[in-house]
Amino acid sequence: MDRNLADCRIRFIEGEEGMPSRQLIRRRISPYEDSTVLTDPLTGLGNLRRFIDKINRLISERADDPAPFAIGVADLDGFKPINDLFGRGAGDAILQQVAMRLRAAMEENATVTRIGADEFAFLLPMVFSEGTAAERAQMLIEILSAPYHVGQRTARLSASAGCSLFYSEEDTAELLLSKAETALYQAKRSGRGTVMVYTREMEDAAKRATHIEQALRRAVAAGEVEPHFQPIVDLSSRQVVGFETLARWTDRDLGEVAPAVFIPIAEERGVIGQLSQLMLRKAAQAARDWPKELFLSFNLSPSQLVDQNTAQHILNILEQTSFDPRRLEIEITENGLMSDPASAKRILQDLRRRGIRVSLDDFGTGQSSLGRLREFAFDKLKIDRTFVSSILDDRPSEHIIRAILAMCEGLGMEVVAEGIEEEAQAERLVQFGCSGGQGHLFGRPRNAHHTLSYLHESVYPSKYAG
Ligand code: C2E
Ligand code: MG
Ligand code: MG
Repeated sequence: MDRNLADCRIRFIEGEEGMPSRQLIRRRISPYEDSTVLTDPLTGLGNLRRFIDKINRLISERADDPAPFAIGVADLDGFKPINDLFGRGAGDAILQQVAMRLRAAMEENATVTRIGADEFAFLLPMVFSEGTAAERAQMLIEILSAPYHVGQRTARLSASAGCSLFYSEEDTAELLLSKAETALYQAKRSGRGTVMVYTREMEDAAKRATHIEQALRRAVAAGEVEPHFQPIVDLSSRQVVGFETLARWTDRDLGEVAPAVFIPIAEERGVIGQLSQLMLRKAAQAARDWPKELFLSFNLSPSQLVDQNTAQHILNILEQTSFDPRRLEIEITENGLMSDPASAKRILQDLRRRGIRVSLDDFGTGQSSLGRLREFAFDKLKIDRTFVSSILDDRPSEHIIRAILAMCEGLGMEVVAEGIEEEAQAERLVQFGCSGGQGHLFGRPRNAHHTLSYLHESVYPSKYAG
């Protein structure tokens, strides 16, 4: 039983600032672990084994009394950096304080245990509804967010929690825990300090995601995901200066699947690396046939900026396809810098050393700080389309765009406004001094073949004539 349980447990990889990198790894309990040990030596709370025992006992009690009960898992946000910054001793002291607070907050009959480094699980026998479970978990999270005193210093932490409810005997202890972990994962994804209760919709979404993941793995292995290319123009002359690569996938059974759906799944399920390499290889091969002055822009996902092999993979592909690195631009988002800024910095440095340029994508929508702009010295910034789409009728958007443009000028960064759909938006942006633009007004993403025809026919007819 323990082996199965161990196999279904999920652990978050936390970055320096405690953002889940959206990647899951499965944690295994050692089969050699002493099965008689039921207490966590650091906090004195029960351990995972005790937690499972308690749930099993309650399940058998409830065999005659069909009342539901709730369990939950709370995970500290940003615990790893605390350990790194303050040292392990301080980390341990905080975990002890967490344990004390949780124990004090448990009502009669309820149990709290420590089931992972910074993961605590609680069993609430007298909670019968999803609403009450969420309320209790919210209260626990608030208790955990009060400051911690470690020696002379004070640390602040937040926590996220996921809960699940026992309704029938089909809900085994393992299943309940795995559901609570799925809910916790969703909570972490939607930001720090959040509580989620496992729902049927979550289960359906998880099944759908697994279906898409399997189809995507097959498609990537068969090379069936295609790069499409969207023109990026110089706004005043309207000349095409480069193209952004955007992945497109049409599955035999699922039909066309949007990147907004399959990219996050590829990131979460660890397919993004292979997908990205396929995309870059195909894109570089296509772009070799374009005029040399056109650049190729390519998106990297946040999880790729924590993987130290990323730079080498990119450079290898450029070498194999004989694509000049100076024609490549990498687009990363603010969130990509947040999970592990030091790792992102190393990867980007390796790329820039070879002449690859780096742009900050979707600017204004992420959680990064302006300090990062200084630290990372991007070559280019892409203003997110939410600002562009409201530029004509929304004064705040106009002010924000003007401020971004002034900042980019001061920092010597190029700018591209994304999502331009109307002529009037383009004109307004030119008035404000924005030099680059991208959007349906100038062209939608098209496949390699159509992109080449487009270049032949409308952009460089003379260049291709002979
Ligand atoms: P992004 O990098 O910000 O790409 C721009 C998105 O805006 C694209 O959506 C593009 O089709 C869309 N777009 C461009 N012009 C307009 C416009 O005028 N109006 C509107 N409404 N939309 C416009 P798409 O292709 O659906 O991609 C969504 C996101 O998926 C991308 O956002 C990017 O973050 C991600 N993505 C796409 N391909 C890849 C890839 O190969 N690797 C990675 N890591 N991410 C990718
Ligand atoms: Mg992009
Ligand atoms: Mg963008």
